[in-house]
Amino acid sequence: SYRSVSSDGVAVSGGGRRVPVGLKKPPKRIVVTGGAGFVGSHLVDKILARGDSVIVIDNFFTGRKDNVMHHFGNPRFELIRHDVVEPILLEVDEIYHLACPASPVHYKYNPIKTIKTNVMGTLNMLGLAKRIGARFLLTSTSEVYGDPLEHPQKETYWGHVNPIGVRSCYDEGKRTAETLTMDYHRGAGLEVRIARIFNTYGPRMCLDDGRVVSNFVAQALRKEPMTVYGDGKQTRSFQYVSDLVDGLVVLMEGEHIGPFNLGNPGEFTMLELAEVVKETVDSSATIEFRPNTADDPHMRKPDISKAKELLNWEPKITLRQGLPLMVTDFQKRILSPQN
Ligand code: NAD
Ligand code: UDP
Ligand code: UDP
Repeated sequence: SYRSVSSDGVAVSGGGRRVPVGLKKPPKRIVVTGGAGFVGSHLVDKILARGDSVIVIDNFFTGRKDNVMHHFGNPRFELIRHDVVEPILLEVDEIYHLACPASPVHYKYNPIKTIKTNVMGTLNMLGLAKRIGARFLLTSTSEVYGDPLEHPQKETYWGHVNPIGVRSCYDEGKRTAETLTMDYHRGAGLEVRIARIFNTYGPRMCLDDGRVVSNFVAQALRKEPMTVYGDGKQTRSFQYVSDLVDGLVVLMEGEHIGPFNLGNPGEFTMLELAEVVKETVDSSATIEFRPNTADDPHMRKPDISKAKELLNWEPKITLRQGLPLMVTDFQKRILSPQN
């Protein structure tokens, strides 16, 4: 642990707090940037449930107050409307840095803003972590592997990324964010963690974020055809959100910097995914083919041996188990007028 004891018998935490030895550990103060978003809000639930304090920083670009509203009134919860591209002063012990749109439709909507969020936003959060001595975790992405020439992808693979394409604001942005994180670690002695997250789904995803699982589920529920892009033979590996959140927490609290792949190795073609959605939502659901988007990776599947060995983490929930949990949430929101 990074909590150490000074010569006068006082424990000093990462945020510089002094706690008399022998007294009950006070709650940790934790920043979650992007905490009003899909993954962030589930992470906030977990941190609050174990008794620690959370400050969410979010500009509500893709996040929603609804995702964290159940914590309003909890004295250990704070929500700040703030854009991470601007500096901020806070005193905390740990920073989970998630702020960044994750769906291709969202991150391509304003690509310059996306790269500013990844570069300036990450720089600001690293500067904050350095000033206060907080531990910093970056949520990077499997997109750093680009359209991979190695399959499955290990953390040692350097990737195959187009630097000038329509996805570059996101994947090159995240690659730069990883670089910044390692440079603050090497140069300023910052305690850092890097997670490379593979496609994740679950309750609270935006209904219309254009990602494949949310699209197929919403389409099947609305009795519209599921839109399969290209020939539907491209693959992805889908992880349920609670598995990811467990992984982020063990990574933050463990001794290893990473990067670590956090994903479910269960690999599906988009046609297979459509079939599973059909079995889960509506056996009469149909599909419709659409042209694929530019630079779409042909396949993606994590090699998670490193996380298994060093973090003792692996996902527990299969697609067939996780999908119904998301469908229940989507059903409620599609039926209610304000989503
Ligand atoms: P999301 O879009 O639901 O959440 C992102 C949150 O960040 C939103 O609440 C949004 O409002 C906020 N945000 C965006 N730009 C901001 C800015 N400039 N300042 C402050 N807040 C800002 O996406 P998510 O799926 O929850 O993803 C969370 C993180 O995980 C992202 O960093 C994403 O890159 C990473 N990730 C997610 C997946 C996935 O499949 N969900 C896969 C790989 C990586
Ligand atoms: N920063 C911040 N909050 C802090 C400390 C720094 O937002 O508490 C920002 C700061 O504005 C700067 C960035 O983080 O843009 C990097 O800070 P650092 O101190 O590493 O670099 P410098 O300020 O020397 O460029
Ligand atoms: N896709 C699809 N139909 C949709 C949305 C996406 O077939 O309605 C495909 C997309 O072309 C890609 C895969 O699903 O091959 C995953 O796309 P998503 O946007 O969910 O995430 P990505 O992994 O590309 O970031």
